Amino acid sequence: MAKNKNTNGHKPETFHIQTFGCQMNLADSSTLAANMITKGFKRVDSEEKADLLILNTCSVREKAENRVYGRLGEMYKYKKRRPNLKIAVVGCMAQRLGEKLKERVPHVDYVLGTDRQFELPDVLNGVEGTQQVMTAFGHENLDFITPIKETPHSGFITITRGCDNYCTYCIVPYVRGKEVCHSPGYIIDAVKKMVDEGVVEVTLLGQNVNSYKSGGIDFPELLERVVNKAKLPRLRFMTSHPKDLSKRLVDAMADTPQLLGHIHLPVQSGSNRVLQKMGRIYTIEHYLKIIDYIRKRIPETSITTDLIVGFPTETEAEFEQTLDAVRKIRYDSAFMFRYSVRPGTVAAKYNDDVPEEDKIRRLHKLIKIQQEIGHQVNQREVGKIRTALVEGKSRRDDQISRARTEGNKIVLIDTADLKVGSIISVNITRADAFTLHGNLSVLN
Ligand code: SF4
Repeated sequence: MAKNKNTNGHKPETFHIQTFGCQMNLADSSTLAANMITKGFKRVDSEEKADLLILNTCSVREKAENRVYGRLGEMYKYKKRRPNLKIAVVGCMAQRLGEKLKERVPHVDYVLGTDRQFELPDVLNGVEGTQQVMTAFGHENLDFITPIKETPHSGFITITRGCDNYCTYCIVPYVRGKEVCHSPGYIIDAVKKMVDEGVVEVTLLGQNVNSYKSGGIDFPELLERVVNKAKLPRLRFMTSHPKDLSKRLVDAMADTPQLLGHIHLPVQSGSNRVLQKMGRIYTIEHYLKIIDYIRKRIPETSITTDLIVGFPTETEAEFEQTLDAVRKIRYDSAFMFRYSVRPGTVAAKYNDDVPEEDKIRRLHKLIKIQQEIGHQVNQREVGKIRTALVEGKSRRDDQISRARTEGNKIVLIDTADLKVGSIISVNITRADAFTLHGNLSVLN
């Protein structure tokens, strides 16, 4: 491994972070920024003002990695203009590629994997033992990481890191390591601290929050403790795995007003044979039973999912089974992808035999059907009053405010001056497939 050679007298003082990928990466970027600030570095809001550019990366799809390579290509030009500029790549892609990334992109100065990224300020400060490329997993106990709120009113807290499931298509267990759970005390203290700082909504994050277990406490019990010990108005969690989502969790959601009505439950396929080949460890019948129970106990809860089409050997009939499941379940929304090979996974050894044009056709058909369903599902919201957290202005019109409902839907409100972070009641007047529209009903 390359030793830290940061001895040229050009230690960066200011930094800028760009984040790719999921909410866990966003949470990690906030934490890394906080560590950097604590150790004397200043965060700036533009790349031009920064002496250090940090890219927190995603490896889940090839496209995500290509975007990072594109950004690194642009940064080469900056570096030629400003030779003292430093570039750090952290997170999943750094973990997956390690030294290879530095070989492929020599103008990158530091490569720190998912566990080691929080040591970047020590690396910059030349702390003994730190190196320019660090990818070893090594933190059995990650409670030393300080979660930081993402905005003044909302925060993400990672409760489990890594994953033990090894779904055959997924790179996450290889780049984030085995599952490690933060202790309940750490999580409760982090929520309390955020509440003291004015946060009104916290999202607990993990690749599979339902498998949380620490000191004999499982996920439903953790939620109960968080709600009882921190006076928090709104609590969410993400992501759930169908093999571990229990009736107790659904019951807790039904009985706890602070737990907001949204479950993200990736189904991936409607075919049992494909699910088995994906290593998902549940059948579509089991999945449908969970959905029935959720709809019975908490009928207003929105349910979202992830779907992959064109997995190796998926036949047309099996793809139709996915469409049947989507029509039956009627998701509020879905993240839909065509399969792409991730080197290093089990599925990378399968014959990627579904032709690209079939993958694209299947994906378009699935998106069309899901968008029609999403549109219809959202029509049920019209005429209802929903509570929502004001997040800011509409991106297109600063006379319109943007808020997030309990069901995790964006609602645009015809009022310009709503206070960011306030919880409001909204009369839903109109809906399309992705967005609700409404008027202010009562300001709480
Ligand atoms: S549960 Fe499966 S898809 Fe999700 S992170 Fe783990 S291996 Fe990947």
